[in-house]
Amino acid sequence: MLVAGNWKSNKSFNEAQEFANAFAKLTPPAEGVEVSIAPPAPYLAALGQEGVPFRLGAQNVSATGPGAQTGEFTADMLAGCGVQDVIVGHSERRDGHGDEDAAVAEKVDRVLESGLRVIFCCGESLQDRQSNVHFDKVLRQLESGILRLPAEDMSRVVVAYEPIWAIGTGLTATAEQAQEMHAAIRGWITEAFDADVSKSIPLLYGGSCKPANADELFACADVDGGLIGGAALNPEHFHALVEAAGRAQAKRMQAEAI
Ligand code: PEP
Repeated sequence: MLVAGNWKSNKSFNEAQEFANAFAKLTPPAEGVEVSIAPPAPYLAALGQEGVPFRLGAQNVSATGPGAQTGEFTADMLAGCGVQDVIVGHSERRDGHGDEDAAVAEKVDRVLESGLRVIFCCGESLQDRQSNVHFDKVLRQLESGILRLPAEDMSRVVVAYEPIWAIGTGLTATAEQAQEMHAAIRGWITEAFDADVSKSIPLLYGGSCKPANADELFACADVDGGLIGGAALNPEHFHALVEAAGRAQAKRMQAEAI
């Protein structure tokens, strides 16, 4: 299980450090649970140097390498700051920040070339769901983003299914809706690669996931954790999600042992 937080453009640098200190005092994640947080980019170098009690993530990356690209930062620069995970294709970047499928694919390639792990976001709008094209939409995003990759790169790919209508809205996909899409994603990855690759890819759910609904979502067979926005801002709330992932992981391990 993986619980990944995305702080977006929130927190001062001091607040980011306070979060890391507070989180470090809480119970460590259970066996088999990974934690990653993507703070705002200006804090990454200092947090990477100070050390944080979670994997350090970035919320964005340049689609290109080094050069005359004012304001951009490359995947190699992120790696040099201690970043391990990079969120690519978040709907807030796809919508209005130029991250169309082609740019997203370039970013995926740059992240993987730098040896980092990509958290690849996909998801449909409310209109897509109401028009019953949500599966087509997500499949297209996956095809251009990751299903084209060499199989050996897939060990550094995480997929986050984030229905846009559930992000920051308080609306959550039901466990059935999440499981149905996750099972479809797992199936498409199996078709493009094989069952072993598919089983090894963490599939995260994102969209108003919070302590009150995490147990139900994480109990779904194909939900391997969450990408968390609002509930990642408070160390106790985020820790409650990490604990929920621990409970789900313990049940999976028990089931495997039988
Ligand atoms: C997100 O932005 O990726 C997200 C899931 O946000 P929230 O948890 O606030 O809906």
